Amino acid sequence: MGKRREKTGRPLSRREFLALSAAGAVLAPAGRVLGAEGAPWYATMRRCGQLNFNERDPLTLDVEAWADYWASLKVDAVLLGGGGIVAFYPTEVPHHHRSEFLGARDLFGGLAAAARRRGMRVVARMDCNYAYEQALRERPEWFERNRDGSPRPHGESTWLFKTCMFSPYFSEQMPAIYREMNRLYAPDGFFTNGWPSTGDLTVCHCESCQKVYREKVGAVPPDTTDAASPHYRKYYAATMDRVMEVWTLWDSIAREKKADSVYVGNLGGGIRVVKDVWRIGRGAGWFNADHQGRAGDTPIWDCAQQGRVAQSVMKGRAITNVTGSYSNSRPVWRHVAKPAAEATLWMAQTTASGMVPWFHWLGGSPEDNRWREVGRAFFQWLAAHEVHFRNRRSVADLAVLFPQSTIAFYRSGQGPASWRGADRGQATEYLQGLYYALLEGRFLFDFVHEKDLEPETMGRYRALLMPNAAHLGDEACRLIRAYAAAGGSILATFETARYDEWGDARPEPALAELFGATFTGPPIGPAANSYMRLDRAHAAVGDFAGTALLPGPESRLPIRARDGGTPVLTVVPSYPAFPPEMVFPRTPRTDEPAAVFRENGRSRVAYFAGDVDRTFWRSGNPDLGQLLANTVRWLRGAAPLPVTIEGDGVVEAFAWETEPGHALHILNYTNPNMTRAFIRRFYPIGPLRVAFDVPAGKKVARVEALRAGAVLPFRQEGRTVRFEVPTVADYEVVALT
Ligand SMILES: [Zn+2]
Repeated sequence: MGKRREKTGRPLSRREFLALSAAGAVLAPAGRVLGAEGAPWYATMRRCGQLNFNERDPLTLDVEAWADYWASLKVDAVLLGGGGIVAFYPTEVPHHHRSEFLGARDLFGGLAAAARRRGMRVVARMDCNYAYEQALRERPEWFERNRDGSPRPHGESTWLFKTCMFSPYFSEQMPAIYREMNRLYAPDGFFTNGWPSTGDLTVCHCESCQKVYREKVGAVPPDTTDAASPHYRKYYAATMDRVMEVWTLWDSIAREKKADSVYVGNLGGGIRVVKDVWRIGRGAGWFNADHQGRAGDTPIWDCAQQGRVAQSVMKGRAITNVTGSYSNSRPVWRHVAKPAAEATLWMAQTTASGMVPWFHWLGGSPEDNRWREVGRAFFQWLAAHEVHFRNRRSVADLAVLFPQSTIAFYRSGQGPASWRGADRGQATEYLQGLYYALLEGRFLFDFVHEKDLEPETMGRYRALLMPNAAHLGDEACRLIRAYAAAGGSILATFETARYDEWGDARPEPALAELFGATFTGPPIGPAANSYMRLDRAHAAVGDFAGTALLPGPESRLPIRARDGGTPVLTVVPSYPAFPPEMVFPRTPRTDEPAAVFRENGRSRVAYFAGDVDRTFWRSGNPDLGQLLANTVRWLRGAAPLPVTIEGDGVVEAFAWETEPGHALHILNYTNPNMTRAFIRRFYPIGPLRVAFDVPAGKKVARVEALRAGAVLPFRQEGRTVRFEVPTVADYEVVALT
């Protein structure tokens, strides 16, 4: 690849793209243009492994044995501890702390060479987040500061101090380390642990940050971050500018030595990501979701959701997801394995959602070795069927809006959505509820990022589902209206489009006309014991036989329907739930709509004035999930489903057009530990009866269950291929070729 043809940091214009396409070039990640040699190595990798060194490892680590282990997993690349906090090679960069046990050894270089002899690529795993006290004394400007000027020691390893990403540590020291490693080892890439991270922004009072606040925010650093403050928004923008500046710099340094080397940062956070992943994803060659596992009451599908978020910004380009094989629970155990079933289902979600699995252990001399076979078994199976995991596109025809700015900014001061302390769950509970309803309804769907609503993305989706996308910019709203005008169907709930992308309230929600609703007041609630009355039969409410009432949402916006007429569902306002003597409706009937359903040609619109999605997630009441699923079925109209799966069980399914044909991925979540970590064993389901629509004219010759290792009988009528999957224990991938 010639340097002269490289471009980074800026998407190509359509004209540039067409010109380059005509010249036979290939558009590669991050707008890089590659010659006829094709894509960079990481664009086609299928498996990764990572060993995190600890400072003591140079005394005992067996390089050849570890290289053999990773080779047995058939990984394309191995990530090895390089430096940053601790250098695992004989560094000469000032303030770059050599492992105190390194002696004459070169641990990184030794294992890198052993891995390369076995055909693996080597990525240096770095940590830019902390440095030692000696550096703090001699280069004080590198470090984060409290308002009183004190540095910020690590919570547990208190001899380490937090470095500031706005400081020269990121623009000078880390580059010096990368360049030294380039010179010594020419790594195939660099990865930074923990940066840029995806969580809430923090405030630093160092000199660099004071300058950022002075020049870009027009304020002094506040004591706490507050998403409702205009200063926070400017700081968020400045933070994203700096993330992209550093990412681009480090990526260019990675490629100084080798043109197809790459820098990859640390993303993740699943649906809770606060940073602008759209912007990062547009600039990144490789997206790594450091989303290693779940803890506590997180549902098992947290990893599949991560895949959907990453796909919404990478759109088929390189995505990896880390599976921690250690017990990353709360509390955490770094040196014992998590259950094999949990780790396997995490890796299965990674591949089902179109990501590349990256298997991770920590420490060079494990005393618990149970995790080894877990990764080996899954990766060897994957390698044997690799071609079926090369996806071209999802065949889903439902789009779920990924409401990035709602997740980033919808919180304090905004009524029922206020986040409670550290519980970041609340801004995502709307999406979580819709997600659960879609799983129960067996729908195939993709996430679409709110910055990606152009017709070229939306054109293939039958409906756009918006789970309380409270913050939506004017341009997004314009594109949503255009999508509906072109025949697309819409589901929206609660405060969707009530604020602009930064959180400034509009006089009325920007999509009020599309929703067919007039908003008559501020949000009401949260309140228990309110209801929705079934006042009129409608396909969207389906078959709730035997009841006139459905459970009501905790919060709602009061509305009137613009079209008039009898509402399908009306609000029964909250009344006391305790004590029983007081439990009777004070206003049993109102004409306030709980939802508006409209049709305009092919376009159907369903708007729920309440947070039915979030209330479904919080309560678990299946009526609400059924209501959402019924509504989605109605929104799709007569269009046939691309895939139907019948049979008992809770599953998540993905269907892909692949290089050899098509693949249906079925994840079996039917488990008492579905919503609480960890899964101990699987409870097989099946048979599952599947109907899979292939493109017109496509004749399927073979249907194979890759996990079962069985060729399945099938019949094809027109576009529809029917077959039965006899059983699914953890995961099945059915390849149609
Ligand atoms: Zn700072």
